[in-house]
Amino acid sequence: MAKIKMTTPIVEMDGDEMTRIIWKLIKEILILPNVDLKSEYYDLGLENREKTKDQVTFDAAYANKKYGVAVKCATITPNADRVKEYNLSKMWPSPNGTIRAILDGTVFRTPILVKGLVPYVPTWTKPITIARHAYGDIYKNSEMTAPAGAKAELIVTDKDGSETRQIIHEFKGPGIIQGIHNTDASIKNFAKSCFEFALDRKEDLWFAAKDTISKKYDHHFKDIFNELFEAEYKERFEKAGITFFYTLIDDAVARVIRSEGGMIWACKNYDGDVFSDLIATAYGSLAMMTSVLVSPEGCYEYEAAHGTVQRHYYRYLKGEKTSTNSVATIFAWSGALAKRGELDGNAELASFAKKLEKATLDVIEEGQMTKDLYLVSTLPDKRPLDTEEFLKAVAARL
Ligand code: NAP
Ligand code: MG
Repeated sequence: MAKIKMTTPIVEMDGDEMTRIIWKLIKEILILPNVDLKSEYYDLGLENREKTKDQVTFDAAYANKKYGVAVKCATITPNADRVKEYNLSKMWPSPNGTIRAILDGTVFRTPILVKGLVPYVPTWTKPITIARHAYGDIYKNSEMTAPAGAKAELIVTDKDGSETRQIIHEFKGPGIIQGIHNTDASIKNFAKSCFEFALDRKEDLWFAAKDTISKKYDHHFKDIFNELFEAEYKERFEKAGITFFYTLIDDAVARVIRSEGGMIWACKNYDGDVFSDLIATAYGSLAMMTSVLVSPEGCYEYEAAHGTVQRHYYRYLKGEKTSTNSVATIFAWSGALAKRGELDGNAELASFAKKLEKATLDVIEEGQMTKDLYLVSTLPDKRPLDTEEFLKAVAARL
């Protein structure tokens, strides 16, 4: 069979450890036999980030801006142990953080539902997508300790030098303080990405924060969402038969648990960090969660939501068989290929991506799965496969 042709390259960002091994296998076993792959390759593996002084991460992010669609492998975010392990000259920042800052996007995380994997919340029959604002708040904070007797103040100095001051706290004993910020531009981009994504998916959009307590900060988020909705999206939502509403974060949590799923839940940065792990776990597996960064300009970066699966990699290095779940990484590839197909009017490529997803889920529903799923699957006839066996089973089904 002739391979499927591509017109525009996708930006390919390779990564680290077990996911780097899986990356290569997915390409060899599932993609390259079927697609005449056009990709611009960037090696974001930690060794190459060290070698290029992290320039490669910036180059990859700018390529994402240029071409629109990227697929990214999980990467190590170095800590002190990694600095020793990889003999790093610097504790390089998180590549995801760098890419998010350049694209100014919103991260959408959606669980992959499959027969036999039963959510901990029995009413959840449809996926819940978490939309995480990827800029600011405590992720760009400024923190200090305050000694006993200290007075902490917020000071805003205008362009012309005039100051506005507000007391935070007068400390009797020692304590701590933190300064956080966000920008109207970033919040507006976040809101816009959420509205566009909801229209694209034809799913309701929920947004929640804590404006009753945070009467300026969180309230500002709420106002920006509401203003943009009224001005640009209300009619489009009505036409699409979907709704948007704002509620308090604690109310949202209660409603989400009682819901059947099938909505997009927009979260501020920290809420999104926490609730995406909660949602992933409650749907059954972190390895069954897709993640896409969508920029307000319409650039897409697809990845798996999990990390580099370090413990499996060390076993792999010792020559032991591993059973690492590749589903989220396969879906990162299929997501990127489908989006490339859609943007280029390449129906064959988009259709291949859908078939790849279906083959992956069919194999699992027929009872063949990696060990993490095998341990929790309720299917009566199930069989654990190792990493490569699973990919070969998907290829056979495809
Ligand atoms: P992790 O790689 O997500 O793995 C945590 C544990 O979850 C694994 O040890 C494994 O449990 C299980 N798991 C995760 N993905 C799996 C899969 N595909 N198949 C089977 N089991 C899976 O998180 P981590 O160990 O905390 O972090 C490792 C490295 O990943 C770190 O250096 C971190 O910086 C990086 N990281 C990168 C990203 C990213 O690039 N997006 C995100 C998170 C973390 P068992 O070992 O019990 O089987
Ligand atoms: Mg997290």
